[in-house]
Amino acid sequence: MQNISEIEELIKLISKLPGLGTRSAKRIVLKMINNREELIRPLAKNLAEVYKNISRCKTCGSLKSNNIGCNNCENLNQKFSKICVVENIADQWSIEASSVYQGYFHILGGTISSNNMNKDELLINALVNRVKKEKIEEVILATSATIEGQTTAFYIQDSFKDVEVKISKLAQGLPVGGEIESLDDGTLIYAFKNRNSFKKD
Ligand SMILES: [Zn+2]
Repeated sequence: MQNISEIEELIKLISKLPGLGTRSAKRIVLKMINNREELIRPLAKNLAEVYKNISRCKTCGSLKSNNIGCNNCENLNQKFSKICVVENIADQWSIEASSVYQGYFHILGGTISSNNMNKDELLINALVNRVKKEKIEEVILATSATIEGQTTAFYIQDSFKDVEVKISKLAQGLPVGGEIESLDDGTLIYAFKNRNSFKKD
């Protein structure tokens, strides 16, 4: 293949997407180039719109459209007494699909030890503020059973030491190293129903 820098660059970018290597990236790019009007033009337009209009909500960590606000924490017509803390949106989708939980979600966007992730970006202060403002009775920590997930859970628990709220954590049934989004419904439901409360000092 000749070296056309625009194409090389696009292949390099696409191969960074989850689940794709260079080989798949090349196939995708060729498919796009062969379908300029059906694929490249609408994709370019759509990507520009997403870049311009979609951002992370600073209150709950979910993605929101700047035009209509956040559907995860603002535009809700229901009030809840629980908030479930997850690492990423895919975790929230898994929990919602299992129907085991009804309540608010807070998306950290990573863990304390994941690359380039500092405590501000995890929106932990925002979480504490939400709990106070919404009069939340229980914070459910649904971070992964990895060292990073557990470190993050302990840090969050510590951030609530001066707040009157029940903190619980998914424990039983979670395999060590298990990521929430990859659990089957049965395991997830079991982990939720058997969540452990932390003892307050
Ligand atoms: Zn939000």
